[in-house]
Amino acid sequence: MNIDQSKIPQATAKRLPLYYRFLKNLHSSGKQRVSSAELSDAVKVDSATIRRDFSYFGALGKKGYGYNVNYLLSFFRKTLDQDELTKVVLIGVGNLGTAFLHYNFSKNNNTEIFAAFDVAEEKVGTKIGEVPIYHLDELEEQLPDGAPVAILTVPAPAAQAITDRLIEIGVKGILNFTPARLNVPDSIRIHHIDLAVELQSLVYFLKHYPSETSV
Ligand code: ATP
Repeated sequence: MNIDQSKIPQATAKRLPLYYRFLKNLHSSGKQRVSSAELSDAVKVDSATIRRDFSYFGALGKKGYGYNVNYLLSFFRKTLDQDELTKVVLIGVGNLGTAFLHYNFSKNNNTEIFAAFDVAEEKVGTKIGEVPIYHLDELEEQLPDGAPVAILTVPAPAAQAITDRLIEIGVKGILNFTPARLNVPDSIRIHHIDLAVELQSLVYFLKHYPSETSV
């Protein structure tokens, strides 16, 4: 199973975790194979897209048989680095940051927030769940080896300066929950999640495109 991952289109790559989660459930319920129609129904991606996506993984479904669940699972596990734990830091322990620390993505066993940073004196030195909260001034000292991924849940005006420091210590990917558009070098990957914009856009689509179910 030697697949050149750089050949997988980004849109396909983004759907991998979705497929993976569903296949894991299928596997634990003892299913050995799945059709693209069943998958399509469960993950709400049309079956032509699923077939095209899976063809990039070398998984060619057989007519009347479907896809082999074990094959797909082991492919996803490798591709998504499920065997390797990715350490994540969180900056900004406000309402949203606190919720993430409680949640800590424990159902995804390959990512874990292991340290959080804030500037509020009453938060520094405490823990949420198992995660210690340090002062932002200690960022470089606490993370001499950096961390691959950071979650940003600070007020927007603080975001750029913190991002620059994160990059300096070696962070490669940032999940940005602030509305700030961040300037970063090409080698750094940023995913923006602006919950207010998402909510507004959902309301807009409901109003203007009531018959379409998703975009
Ligand atoms: P809260 O109810 O705790 O104020 P919030 O999510 O409404 O939460 P925000 O003003 O968005 O509050 O701030 C989020 C968190 O980011 C807060 O815990 C705040 O102390 C922290 N924060 C603010 N400025 C910085 C900064 N420069 N660096 C790190 N953390 C910061």
